[in-house]
Amino acid sequence: MGIGITHLGSGSRGNATLISSGGYSVLVDCGFSLRQTEKRLGIAGFDPQSIDSIVVTHHHKDHSGSALNASKKWSSTLHCNGGTASRMGLVEGEFTEFGSLERIQFSPDFSMLAIPVPHDDADNVALVASDGNGDLAAIVTDLGEAPDDLVKHLSRCNHISIEANYDHGRLMSGPYPDSLKRRISGRGGHLSNSQAGEVLLRSMNKDLRSIVLCHLSESNNAPHLAESEVLLAIGDEFEGNIAISKQVGPEFSYWTGQEEPSKILAS
Ligand SMILES: [Zn+2]
Ligand SMILES: [Zn+2]
Repeated sequence: MGIGITHLGSGSRGNATLISSGGYSVLVDCGFSLRQTEKRLGIAGFDPQSIDSIVVTHHHKDHSGSALNASKKWSSTLHCNGGTASRMGLVEGEFTEFGSLERIQFSPDFSMLAIPVPHDDADNVALVASDGNGDLAAIVTDLGEAPDDLVKHLSRCNHISIEANYDHGRLMSGPYPDSLKRRISGRGGHLSNSQAGEVLLRSMNKDLRSIVLCHLSESNNAPHLAESEVLLAIGDEFEGNIAISKQVGPEFSYWTGQEEPSKILAS
């Protein structure tokens, strides 16, 4: 069956990733405006009305922005944990709650496991999608460090999308105030390029065929820095494909079991 992964765009101005399997489509995060999200789904060749579920990882606007409106307009089920629901101001009937390390079951085969990760004042989760047939794909963003629990699950994945938020040198010499620099690089902040490389090295396995680096900071990072630092960490171990999801997308789709992504051409 396999799992399809299409980043509609990723960064501090919005995140949304389309994950599909067996004819069931899930949007992980919905952080762009509704209009932008529908436009980007269209570019990826997707009818927004065919989105069955939306999973919100945490309440920050770049992940939750238009999730409620989208779920109402498309009649799709909105999934999030209790902490995220209360921070989003959701009321009963607007969402379906999942717990820590709980499996969100979309169809008899297709599911996602929600793994808590440390991030600011948020109940954030990383998600590992399963097609029920052995294929696993992970979406991991907005975390200051990777818990062992997460690495254990990542080390069985065929595909990993993971944030490489900042280059440590650029962050420290950049324009941000010291308090913000400390917050970003702290336990509740984001993964740096070298931390992303470290997590990937710890998660390396022979079935891992594709990696997407995402949520790159536009002020404290650059695609070539993220890619070179990650390759420095995993280059000897990894023979698959690596790509970067930028703020403006979608640019490509991966399918588990297929190494090369398919390019998406904006018309
Ligand atoms: Zn974010
Ligand atoms: Zn966040």
